[in-house]
Amino acid sequence: MQDDKISAEGQVAGKKIGEFHERVRTMGRFLEKPFLGCLFGVEDCAGNPIRSHTLSESWLRRLADDGGHVLQFVLAVEDAGKRPVGFKPKVVGVGEATTFPGFCQEHDDSLFACVEKEAFVASPRQLACLVYRSVCQEICVKHQMLKCNLPANSPDFFAEKATGQFRLFLELMKRKLRIEEMLRLDKYALESYVVEFERTPTFLVATTFLPYVTFTGRELERRMDWVTLTILPGSKGGFVVFSWDKASPKNGSLLLKSLKALPNQLVTSGILHLALEVSENLVVSQKWWDSLPEVEQSRMLIRFGRSLIADVPPPPDTVRPAPKPTLDWRPIRMGFV
Ligand SMILES: [Zn+2]
Repeated sequence: MQDDKISAEGQVAGKKIGEFHERVRTMGRFLEKPFLGCLFGVEDCAGNPIRSHTLSESWLRRLADDGGHVLQFVLAVEDAGKRPVGFKPKVVGVGEATTFPGFCQEHDDSLFACVEKEAFVASPRQLACLVYRSVCQEICVKHQMLKCNLPANSPDFFAEKATGQFRLFLELMKRKLRIEEMLRLDKYALESYVVEFERTPTFLVATTFLPYVTFTGRELERRMDWVTLTILPGSKGGFVVFSWDKASPKNGSLLLKSLKALPNQLVTSGILHLALEVSENLVVSQKWWDSLPEVEQSRMLIRFGRSLIADVPPPPDTVRPAPKPTLDWRPIRMGFV
């Protein structure tokens, strides 16, 4: 272990604890800053970004307790120097959960009205809007990381991560432009796979990621085949939605073919594993979290932290579902759209 870094296990050497805390505080300040202005690029908008929700506030309310709170996993910075730095659940109000400085009020309202105010029917525009909002959020966070870390003189844990994110940032910018073109023309070149559940989801996610392994344990080629995953509640039950570009469909369709191959009762567990591995935008119901045995909570936090702490290739069986999962939202319909 090098003494000026966090190791792959997240251990911070004693003499660097102060520096670690300072870096975390600096990063926190950058996460408040907008990209440049309103992220909507079709019109040249001069509006100031509000705190846009990555997951709609109305969805979060379905998940929240009576006081309007949900759980998000955050870095347990107080562990630095005592034990490997991991993650812990934090109670967050639905007004703040998964927000980022994304769009001006007008564009936030108009762009996402079809997913905020209308029932989800997997219409082409709804699917494109889910992808667009997630891609914009990922761009915003990557931009904040780069702006915060690239000027640093000495490479450290954060700077190394930021450098690795630079290519991904540019690739996501290309994705953003492509979806803006689809929205402008009202012509969509996306493929999607939707699973409808009988039960209401106990956690929600919106994220855009590169799949490296399938649900059945197959390793995928390293390609820029972005997939957007959204988990949202419906008026009854809920939906898990995967979308990818028709121009780069290989890994997305292989991933979803592997989901289709799973026995019905394992589908939810596979999706939980995937969501924990690939998303920082995971919101959990407190009631469900409290119902889990401590050992299960620990496993989930380790899984959630793995992709953030250690940039190592995942083992092929990373998102394979547990053989006897306790979580089953009961899929009632699933298929390509
Ligand atoms: Zn705007």
